[in-house]
Amino acid sequence: MRKTPTLCFILLILSAVTASASSSSSAAAAAETPYPKLRAFIGATPFIDVHSHPSAGHRVYDPRDPYPTLEPPIGRPFWPVRPERIAVFDSLEPQALRAVYGYKGESVRAEDIPAIEALSKEFWAAGKKEGFNRVLDIAGIERTFANPETPVRDLDPARVSWVAFVDHLFYPFGGAKLKNISPYLIAILDDSSRGVAVESIKFGVKFTDLASYMSYVRAVLADDKKNGAVAVKVGSAYFRTLWFGDVDEDEAAAYFASGLAGTLTRWEDYQKLQDFIARAVFLEAGRLNLPVHVHTGFGADAGLRSLDSNPLNLESVLSDIRFKDTRFVMLHAGYPQWDKLKPLLEKRNAFVDFSAVNWMVYPRELAGILYDWLSYPGASEKIVFGSDAGAPVFFWIAARVSRDALYLALSRLIDEGIIPEDKAVLIAEKLMRGNALRIH
Ligand SMILES: [Zn+2]
Repeated sequence: MRKTPTLCFILLILSAVTASASSSSSAAAAAETPYPKLRAFIGATPFIDVHSHPSAGHRVYDPRDPYPTLEPPIGRPFWPVRPERIAVFDSLEPQALRAVYGYKGESVRAEDIPAIEALSKEFWAAGKKEGFNRVLDIAGIERTFANPETPVRDLDPARVSWVAFVDHLFYPFGGAKLKNISPYLIAILDDSSRGVAVESIKFGVKFTDLASYMSYVRAVLADDKKNGAVAVKVGSAYFRTLWFGDVDEDEAAAYFASGLAGTLTRWEDYQKLQDFIARAVFLEAGRLNLPVHVHTGFGADAGLRSLDSNPLNLESVLSDIRFKDTRFVMLHAGYPQWDKLKPLLEKRNAFVDFSAVNWMVYPRELAGILYDWLSYPGASEKIVFGSDAGAPVFFWIAARVSRDALYLALSRLIDEGIIPEDKAVLIAEKLMRGNALRIH
């Protein structure tokens, strides 16, 4: 109940924001928007998006996409809005479809899907590159850092940069020999180790011991850099802790040898080997000037455990002076641990984005997160925008919610006399693009 006054205040501002965005009278909009200069700046400034999974080209709607925790998945082009559900992506899907495809409907029902598919087909007739650039223009995003398996070849290199996954490097051995691990984890380890086997042939490395394996790891990272990667991505929080312990090289070498011999049976031992490899990857990424993007907080798979993905686990490396030259970006705000990670932002190697949060919660909640972070010393230099979008509608929704939330958070800081409007504009620029460009 104590939250009511703040909530009312924010809802008032939000309705002003919405009114000004769709207003028929600009005079009325100016009166309802207390900080028109800030509002105009946020509306007109294109984002640099540090995290996405672009899905370009016409895609047929498929209601059977597998997705253990969330419906719809970010790659789904459009979806029927469920009448009984409250979700930010449901609330904004019709608007997003209108903005991107020129859809005329007010809602999306199952029977509307064929009409939307026809619009999508027409939209993508221009080609993937042209179509995707248009999506970015409509969402107000200048550039996005994409997370595909291999470099992005069919999109515009001036607008889409590549972030290379490095997780497979941590898992040279499959899961069949390990005791007491879940089928979920076995499948992931088998998949990763197969990827390593295939890639090691490409690099001409035969694994005889840990030293030979680490030479392969360094070759992969150098190759990623050569192929234009702007950062590397770690998604391991989906199946192991983000605490990367400091493991002695001889001990890691012994685990690697038993892995080769097929006698590595304890997950705890395998995890120590992973810790050793991961820390070497982070050091090498720092040396190659590649920021490390780490999935933290909530996730899209039911196998994810929130204690594992808690960003506080990253103190194992963030607080270790040996990693002072590796920049780590904690993705997804570490949600719901976003408030706990504030002290981590004091460390010079730590940064945070709020991707996915901007289509999972309404602007009011995201504004609260940004307001709290921004009130913490120095955090305004550490926060970056990300979308985690796949399909075009998600880019639009992420950008829209972020703009509204950023305006709400900054206008509240002005209202409280903490910053003047000019400074709010400066901070908006940092969060929308300046910080991302500086880090990468
Ligand atoms: Zn993602």
